[in-house]
Amino acid sequence: MIELKNVNKHYGELHVLKDVSLSVRQGEVVVIIGPSGSGKSTLCRTINRLETIDSGEILIEGEPLPQEGKKLAGLRSRIGMVFQSFNLFAHMSILDNVTLAPTDVLKVPRKKAQAEAMKLLERVGVADQANKVPAQLSGGQQQRAAIARALAMHPKAMLFDEPTSALDPEMIGEVLNVMTELASEGMTMLIVTHEMNFARQVADRVIFMDDGKIVEENTPEEFFEHPVSERAQNFLSTIR
Ligand code: ADP
Ligand code: MG
Repeated sequence: MIELKNVNKHYGELHVLKDVSLSVRQGEVVVIIGPSGSGKSTLCRTINRLETIDSGEILIEGEPLPQEGKKLAGLRSRIGMVFQSFNLFAHMSILDNVTLAPTDVLKVPRKKAQAEAMKLLERVGVADQANKVPAQLSGGQQQRAAIARALAMHPKAMLFDEPTSALDPEMIGEVLNVMTELASEGMTMLIVTHEMNFARQVADRVIFMDDGKIVEENTPEEFFEHPVSERAQNFLSTIR
């Protein structure tokens, strides 16, 4: 579904992705962990081309990542992304947030888009908030609405970049539950998170990044019980 081959990315002098190769198969849940500044967000952002790369290749369903135009818009709509900050449109109702892209991009008739949006909002447990604006919702509710908004485009895969890092502790669980459910329904997911229990439960594979490189890649059982590299051992000991 998603394949990166020897991807390199610099910000000026800073080499942030160093020969990164990784693949996510259909239905697979891959969790990326690693210290702050190791390049996790940059990696996510290159996948739907919010960032360009300097060398290497990114393939989505075997096809090179489109450079621009309609094809790129199409790709972005097929890969849902949820960020740390709930980037809902502040001036729109939750319902309008969810129906905007389906009506604008997919040309779904408004009534149909609204009916589908309500189902998705129900699924993530915020249907009763549909007519409010984002600021009237808790962080956890906003993040669940953001997930519904991404799902409204029928994505083939979902990218999550620390979706619970900005949440108050009591709201983390409700967002992780929605993600766990998605995973169990077979959604292909690439998730950056510091929630280790969650990672252990849902990940098919864990990737450990440090300093722009993939240092370790293993099953969650192996990774958490027997981290191989010193860097991974140190990282795990700081968060346990
Ligand atoms: P992580 O998500 O693992 O914390 P990031 O991908 O955000 O790491 O950042 C990797 C490195 O790239 C960091 O050193 C960060 O400061 C730098 N960086 C990230 N975004 C930019 C940018 N837009 N311009 C310059 N440097 C950046
Ligand atoms: Mg980050």
